[in-house]
Amino acid sequence: MGKQNKEFVKEITPQSEDYSQWYLDVILKAQMMDYAPVKGCMVIRPYGYTLWENMQQGLDKRIKDTGHQNAYFPIFIPESLLQKEADHVEGFAPEVAWVTHGGNEKLTERLVVRPTSETIICEMYSRWIQSYRDLPLLINQWCNVVRWEKVTRPFLRTTEFLWQEGHTAHRNEEEAEEETKKMLAVYQDFVENDLAMPVITGQKTEKEKFAGALRTYSIEALMSDGKALQAGTSHNLGTHFAKVFDITYLDSDGELKYVWQTSWGVTTRLIGAIIMVHGDDRGLVLPPKVAPIQAILIPIAPKKAREQVLDKAAEIFTALKASGLRIKMDDREEYSPGWKFNEWEMKGVPLRIEVGPRDLEAGQAVLVRRDNGVKETVAISELTRYIPVLLEQIQTNMYHKAKQFMEANTHRTDDYQEFKQIMEEKRGFIVASWCGNSDCEETVKEETKATIRNIPFHLQQETPGKCICCGHEAKHLVIFARAY
Ligand SMILES: [Zn+2]
Repeated sequence: MGKQNKEFVKEITPQSEDYSQWYLDVILKAQMMDYAPVKGCMVIRPYGYTLWENMQQGLDKRIKDTGHQNAYFPIFIPESLLQKEADHVEGFAPEVAWVTHGGNEKLTERLVVRPTSETIICEMYSRWIQSYRDLPLLINQWCNVVRWEKVTRPFLRTTEFLWQEGHTAHRNEEEAEEETKKMLAVYQDFVENDLAMPVITGQKTEKEKFAGALRTYSIEALMSDGKALQAGTSHNLGTHFAKVFDITYLDSDGELKYVWQTSWGVTTRLIGAIIMVHGDDRGLVLPPKVAPIQAILIPIAPKKAREQVLDKAAEIFTALKASGLRIKMDDREEYSPGWKFNEWEMKGVPLRIEVGPRDLEAGQAVLVRRDNGVKETVAISELTRYIPVLLEQIQTNMYHKAKQFMEANTHRTDDYQEFKQIMEEKRGFIVASWCGNSDCEETVKEETKATIRNIPFHLQQETPGKCICCGHEAKHLVIFARAY
């Protein structure tokens, strides 16, 4: 490796030295985002935004395939609407941004910049729903929301962020619960298959559930520093909002009933999760299914063979692009091949294709994987067929690698001293028994900074032991972790 190359990589702080700094170095250097003039806000640059668009496509298709339609509701919500549901307003009021003036005129009623849209959507649903024939009502919205956060971190917690929020209304509890769990499964499918990120599905505790919800379910992922990240939530809202907003329907039995509602969302923080689950000291490692650039073609063209190599490279580029691959060619003369290798590795491009004069003579190209560094030589005539297969393998390998990491970093203990030690030294997920009392939940949080991520579905069949905190008979096996 030349001197120039070494210095290039040095600009990224190693994960082991300072994980937070590594994260910031990578996202800035890969041009995912930049800091905005308003503190806590960020600019999502084209490379980061293309990643988001690709994620949107994969998730939007799944949302529509399960019968939902997209719509758009206003960003401004009258204060009186937010005030209607007590738990909801208590949950969101501390981080709400208010509009008090229109131009120079003071508004007669303050407006909330939406922190989430339950209230305005409920207001509309109360007008739209009259009969059981209007149900279920299945609507999703892609938009931005604003929550005035005190401590922010790019993608993970920002004052304004992008998300989708689904809002549905149903005839009864059974249908609402089915929807809530169906959408959680949709998130799991999307995150595991498209983002190559394994997750734990389960129910949130009373303390951690959404403000105003009956039950909240979540998918929880484990970052490579051993901290958890809530990657998506799905709420059964019960009839709380329906009662407050008077959303009733005439059922087929002639009775007037309240609708049962759900809401569910994932946000741009998933981008932060991708970075932290897959990234390494060389930079980003992006899953092929959502990577803005799936393959980077680098012609290695010494002066005397320049034209010949570039011609052939252009031919390969055109054929691969036509086959549907998201490919880019880097034929910039002012940078050395080594410099380019580092740059595209840092940007997390899943596959590098190199073609030099000797390769061309032999009718072949060199392929280098970002996920494991494996290099192989492939006939040029085979590239169009072979690369999609290879990208599938990369996608699968990334998932398995992350899954192995999660399994290796999931500990189990019934001993509180050991629990504390693990949380201090290794972190990761800890499976432990819990009595169901929120005082114990709070005590563990105060003493170890670990929270109950969720009560996992896959552990519901097992009999819990004694509560990790108070030692009484436990109700659930739960997952604890320190979280972003
Ligand atoms: Zn307890």
